[in-house]
Amino acid sequence: MIAPTRVGIVAVSHSRPLAEAATALALEMVAGDPPPIAIAAGTDDGRTGTDAVRVAEAIGEAAAGGGGVLVLMDLGSAVLSAEMALEFVADPPPVRLVAAPFVEGLLAAVVRAAGGADLDTVAAEALGALRPKREQLDDAGPDDATPPASGAADAPSAPSAPVADGLPAPAIAEATVRNVAGLHARPAADLAQLVMASGAAITFATPSRGPVDASSPIGIATLGAGPGTVVRIAGSGPQAAATVEALRALIDSGFGEELAPGFEGEGGGATGAGEASGASAAAAAAPATPAAAPATPASPAPARPTSTAKPIGVSGGRVVGPIAVLVHAADEPDAAARVPEAERADARARLREAMLAVAGELQQRADRVSGQRRDVLRATGAIAADPALHRAAEALVRDDGLTPERAVWVELERTVAQYRELGGRMAERATDLRDVRDRIIARLRGVEPPGVPEREHPFVLVADDLAPVDTVGLDPDRCLAIVTEQGGPTSHTAILARELGIPAIVGAMGATALADGTVVLVDGDTGELVERPDERAQATATGVITLPPFVGPGQTADGHRVVLGANVGAPRDIRRAVERGAEGVGLFRTEFCFLDRVTAPSVDDQVAAYREVFAAFPGQTVVVRTLDAGSDKPLPFLTALDEPNPALGVRGYRTARRDPAVLDDQLRAIAIAAAAERADVEVMAPMIATVGEAVEFAARARAAGLDRVGLTIETPSAALVADELCAAVDFVSIGTNDLSQYTMAADRMSGELASLADAWQPAVLRSIRLIGEAGARTGTPVGVCGEAAADPALAPVLVGLGASSLSMAARGITAVGAVLSSVTLAQCRAAAEAACAAVDPAAARAAAREALAR
Ligand code: PEP
Ligand code: MG
Repeated sequence: MIAPTRVGIVAVSHSRPLAEAATALALEMVAGDPPPIAIAAGTDDGRTGTDAVRVAEAIGEAAAGGGGVLVLMDLGSAVLSAEMALEFVADPPPVRLVAAPFVEGLLAAVVRAAGGADLDTVAAEALGALRPKREQLDDAGPDDATPPASGAADAPSAPSAPVADGLPAPAIAEATVRNVAGLHARPAADLAQLVMASGAAITFATPSRGPVDASSPIGIATLGAGPGTVVRIAGSGPQAAATVEALRALIDSGFGEELAPGFEGEGGGATGAGEASGASAAAAAAPATPAAAPATPASPAPARPTSTAKPIGVSGGRVVGPIAVLVHAADEPDAAARVPEAERADARARLREAMLAVAGELQQRADRVSGQRRDVLRATGAIAADPALHRAAEALVRDDGLTPERAVWVELERTVAQYRELGGRMAERATDLRDVRDRIIARLRGVEPPGVPEREHPFVLVADDLAPVDTVGLDPDRCLAIVTEQGGPTSHTAILARELGIPAIVGAMGATALADGTVVLVDGDTGELVERPDERAQATATGVITLPPFVGPGQTADGHRVVLGANVGAPRDIRRAVERGAEGVGLFRTEFCFLDRVTAPSVDDQVAAYREVFAAFPGQTVVVRTLDAGSDKPLPFLTALDEPNPALGVRGYRTARRDPAVLDDQLRAIAIAAAAERADVEVMAPMIATVGEAVEFAARARAAGLDRVGLTIETPSAALVADELCAAVDFVSIGTNDLSQYTMAADRMSGELASLADAWQPAVLRSIRLIGEAGARTGTPVGVCGEAAADPALAPVLVGLGASSLSMAARGITAVGAVLSSVTLAQCRAAAEAACAAVDPAAARAAAREALAR
């Protein structure tokens, strides 16, 4: 239900018994709340006849639904009375008198109105109500159905029940929702598609909600039907019985998703192994056109960027290319603008074209990808194609003169509010609804849709900031480099860019003011950003420099062993890690597998994703970190949307306070995947702040069957109680990105504060020293998995502070391995001592360099 309005129905007849019987018959077809129906039949003294005053009253009663009134009449003077009644209605609602057959028309109208259809559609259904009977009897008589109004052009064909003994019998069934996630976006899209393909008129209702038009995925989703909910399916039309049965079977099957406890083994519900890598609807699947097209021409007379003060190189490589600027959400369309009456038909047509074009575009993109990304794109496309949304938005243009842009905005905001009211997973779909909204508005305005731009040629992506979900979907073959105004060296944009091997600079203030298509030179090592480089400058571009793969084992010149592992996120990082010679995986950021999931991944989906990583490292260690959701890595199914300060909120291990089952499922999935592969799997928890959390996590992980349990130390509190933490687990790993952020109280996302959120800060180094000493005292291995581990100058210092393993983006391993092999452990310790004693990062660097040279 997009609009909270209902079309009311008035039955005008000479005979009260006839009107009452026809109404009762129609109501049998409705599974939930019927629309307002008023009868104006017979005379006050019980005789046969019609009365215009009573018809006027009935119109007033039926108008309570707020969606206009449809009047059906039986014979001759009933029509006259109804016409006359219109004169008596003060302040009349939109009223339509239709020349539909009385019984069939009433039935069709009631069913469609119950499903939330608008007045045009309900009228068209009533007018076409004889068609099924004609088809059944092979009677090709003149079609008395007026062509449907344009607002109803995509409505299902007219309903009618199968005929038995001359009476229509409603097709009704009940199905129980069995899948864990309930009738969320994907199942809703599947159900609505089935309904639309059948042509039957179907409504769904639950004991507490509905009925809704089942051709509307949004309507279905607003039922909020979770596992165990009984859905009543009612249908009419030529295919009603078969469609109702197919819908029942589909709901009962669990849609191939994970089944809720208690419903397993009741048939259906095979768990599909979804694709583990994630990408947002906005970021997924750029067209796979070869990178041959010329650069987009730069706009004429370009203005210089306001400033590109102090950009920081965060991912190496020097490249040249035209920029493409990330487009943000649409501005709110003018609420006061009105379309003149004479132009509304055109405006509605434009609106319909835009919605269908966006639906088609998303579907096409869905067809080009697979697994989870396909499901997300398909479900998002189904929102744009939702017939109820079309009708509601078009009605705002037609009746109120809203611009098409405003109508889309209003209707989808209304739907967002409904989803929010449902809470939980439905509330998390708000982003998808707004993505559809912005795409339709962009289409109407003739501008680029929001998200990572789609280009036929390779480009330098410029943005004020990038969400991980945008970055993780980037194609390194098309995205030459990333330039952002925000973000520090340890922001996730920087981390992902390094993992993808895409040169990147952050803190390039003013870069988004550059005209789209402007050619720039980007140096991800030095942070240089040159606008329109001349030929000489262009010739200095070297692309991405890659050193030969690392040949282990990692050790110092005097044979002190330091394991050099890779950090991986999405499964595509695996190949790079193997190619670069990583000694296993020191940090598997599992949340990157599920960034675009709107519902928690099933255990089976997780097992598939984890096995892919484990299989690549037989006999080597893979350290899996449980979901580190929150802050700048929100996971729609786990992260609270309304935290005032997400970095200090419910992120990392803290999400298990609210959703313990998500953690336990993940631990179970890791254990299952570990048992199936030959990697030595270890598990650790992110963002541990207390000894109690460490003890609790270790117990849960061991209960799930995992032997080697650890945790990341990335809060100052954890550093201060490192001895007790070490005693509670088998190993610890220092997350220097967050440890720097929290120790220095400097947002790691802030380019401006990058010099504070720096692991070279003596305060951070001394925290690391505390942890190293605790590890030595307790015999607990201490690793480093933050970005500091990839800094060849800092790596010996970390080893000197007690790190026995370093894990980093795979590209950094060769350089770090080479440095370590050139220094002794004693030199590392001397460098660590000197750096800790320094007063600031620059002095720490200089002191370490000097100590290593001795
Ligand atoms: C860290 O904080 O250093 C870390 C490794 O975790 P993430 O960067 O994923 O927050
Ligand atoms: Mg961290």
